[in-house]
Amino acid sequence: MAEFTMELNDEQKEVRDWLHGFAADVIRPAAAEWDEREETPWPVIQEAAKVGIYSLDFYAQQYFDATGLGIPMAMEELFWGDAGIALSIVGTGLAAVGVLANGTEEQIGTWIPQMYGDVNDVKVAAFCSSEPDAGSDVASMRTRAVYDEAKDEWVINGTKTWATNGGIANVHVVVAVVDPDLGSKGHASFIIPPDTPGLSQGQKFQKHGIRASHTAEVVLDDVRVPGSCLLGGKEKLDERLARAREKARKGGERVKNAAMATFEASRPAVGAMAVGTARAAYEVALDYAMTREQFGRPIIDNQGVAFQLADMRTQIDAARLLVWRASRMGVNGKPFTAAEGSMSKLFASETAKKVTAQAIQILGGNGYTREYPVERMHRDAAIYTIFEGTSEIQRLVIARTLSGMPIR
Ligand SMILES: Cc1cc2nc3c(=O)[nH]c(=O)nc-3n(C[C@H](O)[C@H](O)[C@H](O)COP(=O)(O)OP(=O)(O)OC[C@H]3O[C@@H](n4cnc5c(N)ncnc54)[C@H](O)[C@@H]3O)c2cc1C
Repeated sequence: MAEFTMELNDEQKEVRDWLHGFAADVIRPAAAEWDEREETPWPVIQEAAKVGIYSLDFYAQQYFDATGLGIPMAMEELFWGDAGIALSIVGTGLAAVGVLANGTEEQIGTWIPQMYGDVNDVKVAAFCSSEPDAGSDVASMRTRAVYDEAKDEWVINGTKTWATNGGIANVHVVVAVVDPDLGSKGHASFIIPPDTPGLSQGQKFQKHGIRASHTAEVVLDDVRVPGSCLLGGKEKLDERLARAREKARKGGERVKNAAMATFEASRPAVGAMAVGTARAAYEVALDYAMTREQFGRPIIDNQGVAFQLADMRTQIDAARLLVWRASRMGVNGKPFTAAEGSMSKLFASETAKKVTAQAIQILGGNGYTREYPVERMHRDAAIYTIFEGTSEIQRLVIARTLSGMPIR
């Protein structure tokens, strides 16, 4: 494991400054416009592709940084720029990681480039797991994949919801039930190649925040994909199902923990997004408090305002440290014995919601208008306590990990 430090190294600082420059010069100035338009900011994604931020290479470089700080640092800077646009930029990476983690080398080489497209024709990808009746309760998933042995094809039927980039993606990664008796262990992931008949976009959601990020239902109606689209391949799936059946027969509880570990490793990245939004709102509030005068002095001269800013900054720094710790553990394969990944996501997301609300208060009437960005940041921050597991689910996972008990 790389030596422990709370400092970014010189190379990381260089990348951070470069990302910050892009966030400040390209993302932030475009934020209000795309929030109002509620559309995917294709020109900004293209700019990100031109400079190399929107690419698998960049994502993979940060992902495999042995200190664990590459991804949190990148997420914090991009989401500092704007959460909706940044999610449009990193959403493809989340689908790509699903393929990187579970796909064969051939699948990785075939599909990931098609997820990103190229600089002149950028594409996005979507990861579709949630369903109308299976949000927090993933095991209730109904989308069904049935193997047609004669044709070596999988036939997929169901409706996915809340999919980031759903319906506009070039490549969709869809999680479906292959063995209904095994709960979440009976799920498998499939690549749905571009222009596959039967896949269509359902409702596109109008949202409270992150409105520059496209969120929609994805309808799968007798979608047929070749056997080669099953992530990891049939042999591996059959082995995994056989093991799960055996474990279920013996008692089942161990089975759940492996799935939990995967989420633990990915949750700090969402925590880092929340830190970016919180820091952005805090900076606006600090600047405002130092320049806005009432009663003949800057409002920060009032302890009531100054202490709020002190608390905001303290919580943001604490959130970042939890995120860095969990991310470092994930990259180095350390066991999350106290659900440290969930802790980081829980604390950072709740901090972002609180800090952005305080920022509105510090800006007074201005904070409540769209003339200042904290109103948008507060709307954006609300997503962090919902997606990738709600705050309640994080608490449930933490409590279950600490006690070892199946908390209901
Ligand atoms: C903008 C956006 C983008 C998203 N992007 C994606 C995506 O790209 N791909 C994808 O697959 N999904 C995506 N999601 C889905 C997201 O992960 C789910 O919304 C989330 O998991 C919660 O599920 P739900 O909305 O069905 O809420 P529910 O599970 O119905 O929860 C409703 C409320 O009940 C609480 N609750 C539920 N169970 C318990 C319990 N056991 N104990 C205590 N409280 C409980 C929850 O915490 C919550 O407060 C996205 C969602 C949004 C809003």
